[in-house]
Amino acid sequence: MKPDVVVVGAGLAGLAAATALAEDGASVAVIERRPEVGGRVYSYEHPALGEVLDSQHVLLGCCTNLVDLCDWCGSGELIRWYDELTFLETNGNKSVMKPGILPAPSHQTLSFLRAPMLGVKDKVGIARGLMEFLRGYPEGDEESFATWLVRTGQTERAKRHFWEPVVVGALNDGFEQCSTKYAGKVFHETFLKSAEGGRLGIPKVPLTEFLAPIRRKAEELGVEFVKASVEELLQVDGGWVVKGGEVEVEAYAVVVATNFKEARKLVPGMADGPFVSAPITTVHLWYDRDVTGLDHAVLLDTRIQWVFAKSRIRGWTEGCYLELTISASWAELGMGREEILSSALRELEIFFPAVRGARLLKSGVLKEARATFSVTPGLDKFRPEQRTEWPGLYLAGDWTRTEWPSTMEGAVRSGRLAAGALRGELLRYMSPELAAGGLMKWLSTSRPALSRA
Ligand SMILES: Cc1cc2nc3c(=O)[nH]c(=O)nc-3n(C[C@H](O)[C@H](O)[C@H](O)COP(=O)(O)OP(=O)(O)OC[C@H]3O[C@@H](n4cnc5c(N)ncnc54)[C@H](O)[C@@H]3O)c2cc1C
Repeated sequence: MKPDVVVVGAGLAGLAAATALAEDGASVAVIERRPEVGGRVYSYEHPALGEVLDSQHVLLGCCTNLVDLCDWCGSGELIRWYDELTFLETNGNKSVMKPGILPAPSHQTLSFLRAPMLGVKDKVGIARGLMEFLRGYPEGDEESFATWLVRTGQTERAKRHFWEPVVVGALNDGFEQCSTKYAGKVFHETFLKSAEGGRLGIPKVPLTEFLAPIRRKAEELGVEFVKASVEELLQVDGGWVVKGGEVEVEAYAVVVATNFKEARKLVPGMADGPFVSAPITTVHLWYDRDVTGLDHAVLLDTRIQWVFAKSRIRGWTEGCYLELTISASWAELGMGREEILSSALRELEIFFPAVRGARLLKSGVLKEARATFSVTPGLDKFRPEQRTEWPGLYLAGDWTRTEWPSTMEGAVRSGRLAAGALRGELLRYMSPELAAGGLMKWLSTSRPALSRA
């Protein structure tokens, strides 16, 4: 076989590149070393627990390319959307953030003013800070968000109860390790630009099942999936030969959609980059009855940052399955399973006393040491474009230049940008950004994600 294009890696970046090109008439082969597609977006059957586990992935309304890809292949129906975000304090206080009757950028104002998790001084500081992101977010990424918090005079409580849950949840690292640019982007897109942009989407099925329709649809378009670990790319007359084990495929063009480290091994002369991997730890609990009374919540002032009642999200009629998420879980990397579990159970009881009366049937702990890369200050200049100096050789992956942090949306954008670069029209396959709502139609500068090649 000689396909037009070989895509190396079937994470979301590779799948997005392959489907865009195949739908446009190209013949495409995807070479993936694992048996399933999806890369880091995966679930698996845990042999001892007899349960299918995954680390909960969430998306936002502003993830327009991811939502478009899901809708296109049919997995859009597998997303449950939420307009409300509940914040719980250890003293029993509950704050609910949701859009109200006021137009953007004030749509969250009424619930923000009512939120007991913040005092008047905290709220004044937050409002002043958010004004900096009203029109957009900084173009340069040199400043750390820690510096920004000091510069804008944020209170300790505002940091712990507002900035931290959002920034650590979305960017998976501490304030020092995140640039103001990407933190600002999160607040601009999700809190200010429109109510739709801040909607929270949670897959209703395990992640491998969630992404399976993309592969099915790709195969319908003629995409061929080959299982092999690619070891070498050789430039030949009129294209490239992709080699791995017994597999050898020649193509006119190649999209390398692996992680950064693998890409460096495969792509000749690719520059190094100071990418820092950040961990996520999740604790999985099965109870004999519902103990939360809600589908998900942000937990404040504890190691657990988020609780997902997956049984409720997935529409189970009996039993209770919870996933507790600890982002930027450096401390947990060095801890044993029992220690993580007992700390998580102690914290859970503070927020949900019903846990005491319920029977814990099973538990599991999942550590992902290299879940995401951190958008450290100054990283942008090391994120390569999708087009390389080699004719016919392109890069994709959440780590390439997308103007997005390490997320599913960033991965899909990178794949579509690589496909566009290959066709000589960078933005050819990109979905439009969400329109600004209310007064933001005039206020938001809507900086273009990337300039046209
Ligand atoms: C625990 C966890 C929680 C997360 N939570 C969220 C979240 O809530 N929301 C969100 O948007 N994002 C989240 N992310 C991040 C998100 O999963 C990633 O940003 C995204 O999936 C990256 O996709 P990718 O295609 O760029 O890379 P990957 O998914 O890493 O795909 C790369 C693929 O290349 C394959 N490969 C590598 N080398 C070779 C080779 N030599 N030959 C053949 N194949 C190869 C790999 O097997 C893999 O399938 C989370 C990640 C983790 C791990």
